[in-house]
Amino acid sequence: MMHITNLGFPRIGRRRELKQALEAYWSGASDAATLLESARELRLRHWQLQAEAGVRSLPVGDFSLYDHVLDAALLFDAVPDSHRALYEADPLLGYFALARGLQRDGFDLRALEMTKWFDTNYHHLVPELVADQVFRLRPERLLQHCSEARVLGLELRPQVLGPVSLLRLSKTLDGSDPLALLPRLLPLYAELFERLRQQGVDWLQVDEPCLALDLDPALQAAYAQAFDALRASPGPRLLLNCGFGDPRPALPWIRRLAPAALHADLSAGLAPLPELVDGVGEGILVAGVVSGRSVWRSDLDALCAGLAPTLKARGPERLWLAPSCSLLHLPISLDDERQLPGALRSWLSFAQEKLGELNLLGQALSAPEDAHALLAPQRAALADRRVSSLVHRRDVQQRVLALDVEQAVERAPLAERRRLQQQRLALPLLPTTTIGSFPQTREIRRLRVDLRAGRISPGEYAAQLAAATEACVREQESIGLDVLVHGEFERNDMVEYFGEQLAGFAFTRHAWVQSYGSRCVKPPILFGDVERASPMTVDAAVAAQALSTKPLKGMLTGPVTMLQWSFVRDDQPREQTCLQLALALRDEVDDLQSAGIGIIQIDEPALREGLPLRRAERADYLRWAVQCFRLSAGVARPETQIHSHMCYSEFNDIIESVAAMDADVVSIEASRSRMELLDAFVQFRYPAALGPGVYDIHSPRVPHAGEMRELLQRALQVVPAQQLWVNPDCGLKTRDWPETRAALAAMVAVAAALRVDLERCETPVS
Ligand code: GLN
Ligand code: ZN
Repeated sequence: MMHITNLGFPRIGRRRELKQALEAYWSGASDAATLLESARELRLRHWQLQAEAGVRSLPVGDFSLYDHVLDAALLFDAVPDSHRALYEADPLLGYFALARGLQRDGFDLRALEMTKWFDTNYHHLVPELVADQVFRLRPERLLQHCSEARVLGLELRPQVLGPVSLLRLSKTLDGSDPLALLPRLLPLYAELFERLRQQGVDWLQVDEPCLALDLDPALQAAYAQAFDALRASPGPRLLLNCGFGDPRPALPWIRRLAPAALHADLSAGLAPLPELVDGVGEGILVAGVVSGRSVWRSDLDALCAGLAPTLKARGPERLWLAPSCSLLHLPISLDDERQLPGALRSWLSFAQEKLGELNLLGQALSAPEDAHALLAPQRAALADRRVSSLVHRRDVQQRVLALDVEQAVERAPLAERRRLQQQRLALPLLPTTTIGSFPQTREIRRLRVDLRAGRISPGEYAAQLAAATEACVREQESIGLDVLVHGEFERNDMVEYFGEQLAGFAFTRHAWVQSYGSRCVKPPILFGDVERASPMTVDAAVAAQALSTKPLKGMLTGPVTMLQWSFVRDDQPREQTCLQLALALRDEVDDLQSAGIGIIQIDEPALREGLPLRRAERADYLRWAVQCFRLSAGVARPETQIHSHMCYSEFNDIIESVAAMDADVVSIEASRSRMELLDAFVQFRYPAALGPGVYDIHSPRVPHAGEMRELLQRALQVVPAQQLWVNPDCGLKTRDWPETRAALAAMVAVAAALRVDLERCETPVS
């Protein structure tokens, strides 16, 4: 029988039990013991589930109460001084203070920064180190999890984040290079190895996801140093996990570690197999053949045929099977998703089913004579998917084929657009606006629940939403904003709202994945050709515009963001799927402008997130991502003003692509980084108008006028006044009305005062 292993399991629980336990503890409704017991039960349940699915060596230490990078920092006692006293006095409270900040009982502790975990939608905390960091081994948590797993009588394999990735994913407050701390950290890994060996641990998984990045000279040197040291440290046998993507470029460094087992992400295909076999020498190759990130079933026939020669040459002792990465990024089970359309469910595979696929593949490989029969059901499901009319819509495909993209993306020259738009809109200097959503109050959310439960009729729901919109428009008028929005009260989520109105999308009931801490997302499944049946936002925009003489923006979610925040089909290139989305949105843009809407915002907050990890692949992504945005916008007449909005990342390194999107106005998150964004404009003359966010909407704090004025003055140093807009960092849906009113009123006042100053100095002296 083949050896099947797993690199990590979703920790949130099938019903988000961890979320509930955490939030009950944070709110004071339950105590620490209750939380820890719920967490322990989840671990046990998940180990058992994996064991039943046929996993031979179980990952231990992948579970986290909040984040695994924070846990790795704490394994080496990397607690910032600010949090030390609390952490020593109450480790659990200290842990959550690091994760989320703590502002009560006389404490005022910041949370660690958070950032994306490579190119996934998971976010990790960024450990904070100092140049003279003192590390200390604190393995209690890991050892405890090992003893829990051992009680089950199962073969276990603890895991740790490797030293280079731990440091590379950390930051220092003093500007020193975190990698310079490697010599201080390596002896502690040796100590950990020794401790685990004493505990009878045979195997240790070392995660070095940074091996999948472009290895710059600093990383190369760090890996050389770290792997030489680890190789010389006696301890359990090592399974090296090299992160997302093809590990071949890292082989020269991997060889220095000569791990007993090397895991490779082969989700993109088996082509690297020969070189990897060569690279691992006498060691075990752990073939990560079933994607740990895509929700689709694999082509097991192809995998079986592709792996058979290697298996024959190496034997099952030296070829193991695994998912391509930790299953953290998948929902747990399809069992609850009986409502999916047609045969869709039979094409899908979540964490539990992925392990089932590996099991099946293992059986087929071990008994080639039975393989054909064993794989028959999976083969049939895949064949059905290939021809299903649920997926394939001839008219959509023909429209994409017939498309002259180059021509469809072209708009009139920017200068001409600017003139015509100014004639039509007559906006003042430094126009003020918001990003789209206004507070989604408890009452608004209750409306949706009531509608779904049948407590109110669709007519009543619509009437209530119209009332909320009207009140919101009046608020904006009385605040004095120049460009209004309708408030997005009808939208539960900016992707789901559109996905529900488009063919090609399906929605699950419980397919949650962790975004960070207790926060989970339920991405839609984009399974088929995308088609818009009828206008999606036109009525709401027209009704809202009719309430005011001020211009009102129509609000759309852009094609790249729709793609990025969904589970996307894998049977055609992402670019193709994105083109289909872009065409659907293009029709919406056209309908909005025909209905008299003069400004249309196409949000692309996720554009930067899709950037591939490796530099060589970035240009191609940016090419099609920008092209898809332009395809959506390209139907706009010159006098229709196209806005876009971006957030959640730094955009400095892709500023040229932002410009290439050719939007008339782009609003970008900037206040949290104190307008670092503007550094990019010192070198690069951004051609269109720009609204760098002047206040952070993630906090209920009302910004002072002085802060916003200062930020705008900094912006004016690099952006001409005629190109500058004034807006918050992002949508206001998570805020409450009182703080929103106060913050926007202050923002409008700051813009008005600056406008007076600018107009005064710009009056030509005659
Ligand atoms: N228009 C959206 C909103 O205001 C944009 C949200 C986002 O950028 N994530 O809510
Ligand atoms: Zn935003």
